[in-house]
Amino acid sequence: RFITFEGGEGVGKSTQAIELRKFLEGRDIDVVLTREPGGSPGAEDIRHLLVTGGTDKWQPMTETLLHYAARAEHLQATILPALKRGAWVICDRYADSTLAYQGYGQGQDIEKILELHKLVTGDFWPDLTLLLDGGVKLGLNRARHREDLEDRSTREDRYERMGEEFHQTLRKSFLDIAKKNPDRIVVIEAEGGIDSVAARIAKTVTQRLLG
Ligand code: C5P
Repeated sequence: RFITFEGGEGVGKSTQAIELRKFLEGRDIDVVLTREPGGSPGAEDIRHLLVTGGTDKWQPMTETLLHYAARAEHLQATILPALKRGAWVICDRYADSTLAYQGYGQGQDIEKILELHKLVTGDFWPDLTLLLDGGVKLGLNRARHREDLEDRSTREDRYERMGEEFHQTLRKSFLDIAKKNPDRIVVIEAEGGIDSVAARIAKTVTQRLLG
């Protein structure tokens, strides 16, 4: 089974991905937890190009292609081998993020991104996508104050620096993507304590994939 987490900045994707891993491992499921951009040595190198360094370094199309180069690498090196041996894969962001950020956010044609997705992945989509949806202000504060991820000092994430308006648009974009893919994407209310959000997710995963 292939499960992805999606959503804007600071909605708790990484935390909830870890919580879901614990939940599944408690049911004796072999779990591989990974992330995008990144998730394999080559793809992590590409991530570094994308999330550090100056702002507006890449043209939107270049950026889209870099995300897909990373995704091609990640699929072949990490995701597909794990699924093949029977593990469940939980991935923190996947193609819906490309649709939301590079598509809706940067104006890259959605149909073109979907074509590229077919070309690169053979139209490979998750069995279930959990879209964490929550208030933009809360998320941005969380994202700006987090100290857990890679060298926060060198990470100049231009999206985190952008105004609230951009993030409102991003939130709407994800919700729109969810509406268009009701069979695959479940919207999870991301506000509240870690445990209560984790419980909502566990319930959804149980209903959809363990039932
Ligand atoms: O999930 P995380 O916040 O670690 O992702 C790294 C950053 O890369 C995000 O903050 C997001 O702004 C950016 N990103 C992007 N386009 C994607 C995926 C992530 O711009 N398709």
